[in-house]
Amino acid sequence: MFVKNQLTELKIEDITDTGEGIGHINGFTVFVSRAVPGDTVRARIIKVKKTYAIAKAEEILVPAAGRVEPECPVAGSCGGCQLSYMSYASQLMLKQKKVEDCIRRIGGFADVPVLPILGMDNPFGYRNKGQFPVGSLIRKEGAGDGKKEPVLGFYAGHSHRIVPTKECMMLWPGHEKILAAVREYLLTSGAKPYDEETGKGLVRHVLMRRGAATGQVSVCLVVNGRSIPKAELLWESLRQIEGVVGLCLNVNTEQTNVILGRETIPLFGSVTITDFIGDVAFEISPTAFYQVNPVQMKVLYDTALSYAGLTGQEVVWDLYCGIGTISLFLAKHAKRVIGVEIVEDAVKNAKANAKRNRLTNAEFHVGAAEDVVPRLIAEDPSVKPDVVVVDPPRKGCEKSLLETILSMEPARIVYVSCDPATLARDLRILADGGYRVDRVQPVDQFPGSVHVETVVLLSKVNTYKE
Ligand code: SAH
Repeated sequence: MFVKNQLTELKIEDITDTGEGIGHINGFTVFVSRAVPGDTVRARIIKVKKTYAIAKAEEILVPAAGRVEPECPVAGSCGGCQLSYMSYASQLMLKQKKVEDCIRRIGGFADVPVLPILGMDNPFGYRNKGQFPVGSLIRKEGAGDGKKEPVLGFYAGHSHRIVPTKECMMLWPGHEKILAAVREYLLTSGAKPYDEETGKGLVRHVLMRRGAATGQVSVCLVVNGRSIPKAELLWESLRQIEGVVGLCLNVNTEQTNVILGRETIPLFGSVTITDFIGDVAFEISPTAFYQVNPVQMKVLYDTALSYAGLTGQEVVWDLYCGIGTISLFLAKHAKRVIGVEIVEDAVKNAKANAKRNRLTNAEFHVGAAEDVVPRLIAEDPSVKPDVVVVDPPRKGCEKSLLETILSMEPARIVYVSCDPATLARDLRILADGGYRVDRVQPVDQFPGSVHVETVVLLSKVNTYKE
């Protein structure tokens, strides 16, 4: 058994969702920070639990084949990118293997091939959205020693300690000017950073989002109040930054680690930005869910579109539709698209986006897919789908929804997933219900992180009952 502070040597076999290397000693699992799959490390045990131990790599004895020195100056301390110590090629191999393992082990599909993952040419600078916490740090040296000063950055892994950051290598070049403008504003305006512990202070987060196709950028401060002092000072510097179209406030007065509040107050310019996916225009509010990687979003949706096999005659359901991105992307190629989404505001956005693009064959319903779908199909059998697209959050689909989908007997099901484990679980249910898994296509939406998206095509197996 291990004891605290003990040194041990082990080989790292895998990595957790939060970026700890996973190794085993005599069947006992050890989670090792600062280690990547393929490394052999000397690690110090920090904590021993009943079924596992936590350790920190002190020395890399044999580096993994794809180990690299991260290009990012805050790698290791920022909790954002877990794979910055791996070359992009090894990151892709890891994600490919993760999908394959889930499909085989959890799904039990021994001979379904997993297509080679679609990665990016440039795995940096891809993100269209930044979310930076604001806080205070005590100044340690130089003039003003011991004074509090505002800090903007990212949370360190597993904590709410802010790692001061001037820029993020994953965001579009130019976003650092926005951060600098907000920092300058905090220093000169008297607007106090929020303090999570006391619940006092004003400015909690800076959100920024850019429409890749239009270059439009929106800036939103999440604040513990309904106004900020000398707002025009901030706007005066923001409006000079390329692309910035508006500044707004999001009100969050709760003492919680949920970032966004319900209400958004416009201050200057436009609250929303416009972006295009293919030739469909989307108006996006700062708080709406929107894919963060515009290049790979197109790859993902193009794959979903080709798997849907549309000729213009089909009724398509898009379940978990968000602001209707997939629905509207498919609508031009289908007879009718019906989107279902649980967040009311997202459905409002989806309806407005349909109108804006004059897509009259797309309709949207608010509610949980597992409740709405059976209700609609009972009310009106003409909504019976030819193709069903699902794009659930990480926990996957409700079993009852999968059963409803099976009972509707669509010719094809396109499953877009952000978690290969729940995907594999759900594919097994669909396969047992009479569908064949035709294609499994991983797509790398999040270079640097452990997450991977997958698009799967399932077709109904013809069973002639005579
Ligand atoms: N397809 C969209 C959104 C995918 S994210 C896109 O590509 O942009 C998953 C979405 O599922 C979120 O918008 C979330 O609000 C929604 N959601 C979560 N649980 C749901 C449920 N039970 N029924 C319907 N929608 C749900």
